Amino acid sequence: MTYAAFSPLLSPPLYPIDRYAKLADRLKKLLFTQDDIIILQAEALLALEAAATSIAQPDLVAVNIVTSPYGTYFGAWLSRGGTTVNDLTAEPGKPIAVDAVKRTFDTLPKIDIVSVVHGEAANGALNPLKEVAKLAKARGALLVVDAVASFGAHPLHVDALGIDIAAIGPQKALAGPVGLSALTVSKKAWAHIEKTRAPSPSLLSLTDIKENWLDRGRGALPGTPPPLEFWAFEAALTQVEAEGIERLIARHQKAARASRAGVRALGISPWIEDDEAASALVTSAPVPDGIDAEALIAAGARLGVSFGRGFGSIEGKLVRFDHTGLRAAFGPVLANVVAYGAALADFGRSVDVGAAARAVAEVYQAPVPSARS
Ligand SMILES: *Cc1c(COP(=O)(O)O)cnc(C)c1O
Repeated sequence: MTYAAFSPLLSPPLYPIDRYAKLADRLKKLLFTQDDIIILQAEALLALEAAATSIAQPDLVAVNIVTSPYGTYFGAWLSRGGTTVNDLTAEPGKPIAVDAVKRTFDTLPKIDIVSVVHGEAANGALNPLKEVAKLAKARGALLVVDAVASFGAHPLHVDALGIDIAAIGPQKALAGPVGLSALTVSKKAWAHIEKTRAPSPSLLSLTDIKENWLDRGRGALPGTPPPLEFWAFEAALTQVEAEGIERLIARHQKAARASRAGVRALGISPWIEDDEAASALVTSAPVPDGIDAEALIAAGARLGVSFGRGFGSIEGKLVRFDHTGLRAAFGPVLANVVAYGAALADFGRSVDVGAAARAVAEVYQAPVPSARS
């Protein structure tokens, strides 16, 4: 398609003022929450930075769980606001262990904030959110969850988990646009935010958004909301509601099970060995010793399959199979597994690519088991 083909969209109609609140209410249902929802006109990284900036204060202590660069950023934003941040870093590319969280909590007399990423698209890890939430609640801490890469792929019951602030974006499992994001904000979080002295006026100020949107009856969003993004978000929500959030989650979990079964049928353990600790959005497979990750990625590309790279400390050690959104389907899942297996075979490994394909098909032929959290 050429750029000209989009020309009818170049001056899209403004998004109707009365629909912003409706979008927020539709999100509340999908997130199982009665909390306030605020919508930010930027990608989810800005929502996370706004949350951190709005809750940070010099006399506060945070435990920030780090399982990817996103956690590192969050800790840096809290530190910038003067908060004493205890980064709790997992083994590279792996989920945090509940015991490590318990041990860290035991060393701290006071914990005001606990922050954690739920699902990690960067490496395929799923953090033990239920357990972390329980521990955080027991200490009376404010619980902040980056659920950008889990919403729509794993159950996320914000109120039942006691999450005070959850960040989400439409661009992952919801197959929506990347240019907006949302936060749930609990009463406890608002009470906390009221006491901070975060910068204002600022695009990072949740207080500003509260005063200029929530407290004014949720009409027009402050600033200039990008109409294309909002039309696309509405379309994505409509699609998600038509499919049903449970079925959307089940479709991602099936993609993960099939991908993992395929890798195992090649005689290889998925990068995250425990099924319960694996993301349903992406599946990471190891780059076996003696094989160059870039050569493996190039072999996938020759078949039209794009493997994701590992970042930072796991660079070169894994490739990520993307089964996010519309890609959580038999075709893309099969293509990932077969391309990975075929590349390993070409590099001289004795793997049974046919068995891997068969394993993927078997998962898709089986009846759907219940979703895991
Ligand atoms: C994708 C993602 C984000 C948001 O990143 P964007 O650059 O805004 O898309 C945040 N956290 C996690 C864990 C993610 O996977």
